[in-house]
Amino acid sequence: MKTITMKFGGTSVGSPEAISNVIDIVKTERQAGNRVVVIVSAMAGVTDMLLNSVKAAVAGSKWGYLSTAEKLRERHEDALNILVPPGKLREKTFDQVTALLSEYTEICHAVSILGENTARVSDAIVAYGERLSSRVVAAALKSRGVDALAYDAGEFLITDERFQGANPIWEETQARVDAKLLPALAQGITPIITGFIGATRNGAITTLGRGGSDYSGAIFAAASNSDELIIWTDVDGVMTTDPRVDKRARVLPYVSYQEIGELAFYGAKVLHPKTVQPVLDKGIPIWVRNTFNPSFAGTLIRENGEPTATVIKAVTSIRNISLLTVSGKGMIGVPGIAGRTFLATARAGASILMISQSSSEQSFCFLVTEGTAQNVKDAIEGELSAEIDSRDIERVEVLDDVVIITAVGAGMRGTPGVAGRVFSVMGENRINVIAIAQGSSECSISFVVSEADLERSVIKLHDLALESVVEG
Ligand code: ADP
Ligand code: ASP
Ligand code: MG
Repeated sequence: MKTITMKFGGTSVGSPEAISNVIDIVKTERQAGNRVVVIVSAMAGVTDMLLNSVKAAVAGSKWGYLSTAEKLRERHEDALNILVPPGKLREKTFDQVTALLSEYTEICHAVSILGENTARVSDAIVAYGERLSSRVVAAALKSRGVDALAYDAGEFLITDERFQGANPIWEETQARVDAKLLPALAQGITPIITGFIGATRNGAITTLGRGGSDYSGAIFAAASNSDELIIWTDVDGVMTTDPRVDKRARVLPYVSYQEIGELAFYGAKVLHPKTVQPVLDKGIPIWVRNTFNPSFAGTLIRENGEPTATVIKAVTSIRNISLLTVSGKGMIGVPGIAGRTFLATARAGASILMISQSSSEQSFCFLVTEGTAQNVKDAIEGELSAEIDSRDIERVEVLDDVVIITAVGAGMRGTPGVAGRVFSVMGENRINVIAIAQGSSECSISFVVSEADLERSVIKLHDLALESVVEG
């Protein structure tokens, strides 16, 4: 008997038809005699709706959250009406939906009166998306004969207090999984657990960051010692590039943990960047599969990906990036400028996505997300004010509307000429490359172009990845 953790994304639970597929998938696995831990996202679009309603509430608008509550009620009740036959189970789940939505309305009401929102309050509010979907999916499964039970993840997943980007506290999470989740599994229960959310030791709801239910899946896969983690989503697997950018994207049958780490970090939305971390040590394989095409095998992510004949396996991009450049002739040979700059960046609460320095040491540049760039600039100017006054540093500049393009493939390691090919393709297509970086893992090459060149860069680079994809 195997234990399998399955995470279903927003589109996969986004409509009654999609939830029907979820039921078939879970039932098939149960009938094969396996234990299943199910992690669910909010129904597609719900997380955005909830976050927008908080913004409106802060601005004093009641209409925003009242209409959101109504829309959410309709959407979840419609699903229940289609998926669960009339009777006690349907009524009980309606009551749960009503209770959750009235709590949601009360919290939003408080926010609208105070005119203030905190990360903690925002997490409590946005969590209703997953709390609602988990009840609906559990009821739908129950009505089709699976002994399913909905759980709020905070019962097991204990995190630190970094609201909106919380980290698990492993020992406590493991202890709770051992004490409560494993016995439920042993009794034949199929737990339906909210993705994306956890709770602090004091019971305050936290979230793991946008897209974080993949990470929840990995956390529960590791803590329940699962044999497999399956990420059920709305595409056939991890592809050679985002199919929304280039329709020619093909499914990669195998990807290594390291490759998926780079792909996810550099923008492949198909998997949250932290997903690999919990399963890596235990060597739990991750499958990425399509809820709407369940007979297709999907992508297998494991320790060693299969080498492909092409060294560039996939191409990703990240939008909404700003490039910061610190420059000045007085920097040459002066130790510590870069270190102080990066510390100031961290104090401004921004993380650095990529760094590049010219060998003359007269300038270096790095990339942060657009929304944080101005704060970072201010923090750096504060930190280096003496050097700026003495003109050793001439400028701290921000360039907006740039994007990072990344080519990923473990086969690049030790293969000469890959960077040459990448940049000659850019040159041949007259795409201006603003900055370049290659990680020491040699598993990826990243460079910066202006936002207007994004599609063209991805498509031209994708040609190289498509040249010799191994068929799945
Ligand atoms: P879910 O709600 O299931 O978590 P997401 O929208 O978060 O789904 O992620 C799936 C989406 O990721 C796909 O619909 C696709 O547009 C996008 N995507 C971006 N890059 C890739 C890639 N390299 N391979 C597959 N999908 C990708
Ligand atoms: N519902 C959350 C989001 O939209 C988490 C997730 O779907 O992974 O960000
Ligand atoms: Mg996702």
